[in-house]
Amino acid sequence: MTCPLRYRFRVIDRLPEAPSSTATRGVVVHDVLERIFELAPGRRTVGEAMALLEPAWERVSVGDPAIAALLDGDEERDAWFASARDLIESYFRLEDPSRLQPAARELLLEHDLDGGPVLRGILDRLDEAPTGDLRVVDYKTGRSPALEFERAALFQLKFYALLLWRTRGRIPRELRFYYLGDGITMVYRPEEHELRGFERTIRALWAAIERATTSGSWQARRSRLCEWCDHQALCPAWGGTPPPLPAPRRQGDEQEALDQSQRALPAQEALPSRAPKPGKKTAPAQIG
Ligand code: SF4
Repeated sequence: MTCPLRYRFRVIDRLPEAPSSTATRGVVVHDVLERIFELAPGRRTVGEAMALLEPAWERVSVGDPAIAALLDGDEERDAWFASARDLIESYFRLEDPSRLQPAARELLLEHDLDGGPVLRGILDRLDEAPTGDLRVVDYKTGRSPALEFERAALFQLKFYALLLWRTRGRIPRELRFYYLGDGITMVYRPEEHELRGFERTIRALWAAIERATTSGSWQARRSRLCEWCDHQALCPAWGGTPPPLPAPRRQGDEQEALDQSQRALPAQEALPSRAPKPGKKTAPAQIG
């Protein structure tokens, strides 16, 4: 939770966020990396993956003029597809999908934390070894985060580990984030005591969210992430005024969940990368 006010704008107010070519590229590349496993192992090649790219873009953009308009010039379109192809090539340098048979892809998990929120997340891929060991793989289409932002990535890794443990009764042996933007893999091997501690962290976080919901006080926390926030114009830290709070929702609404399942850029994804280029915005990665 990098900025409470941003959480409010996204989850309580549900303010729309403009589609971006970067986030859309993330969705499309995820689609390709999911569908590659529908092919027979021998066909899971870079060439076959590239052939899935255009149809994946069509699926995402057809019927959504705002997304289709993101690539309305030939030059933009060519550059966007070239960058998507780079990400797919990067994936193939990290692992060979012909040697894998995932147990699940795009796996939606939910767990009602007793006395806390509903935890919800989508795992890009779950692998299961013959021994029963579980491994979570998550694709990130941005670059690996800078050191000061690794904690946010670790939050998401622990979130998935806890969710899997609580829904499957087994602690995953390993979780991996593949940062396709710079070809770096982040690996986390959770321990039970860490996850118990993390569950307490989630409860404390949820209590803070409930307090803010009751008081209506959502603090703006200005940081480098503001660069990627769609709501600067409404943010007091940037001279704006938030809209009135909407009427409280009923029990069981979306608001009652801590949700890591959205594809559209939760805060943990919009992290400055390990090696930002001077004077250039680091592209926010998209969720997976
Ligand atoms: S602009 Fe920055 S401080 Fe304001 S809501 Fe967005 S992330 Fe928070």
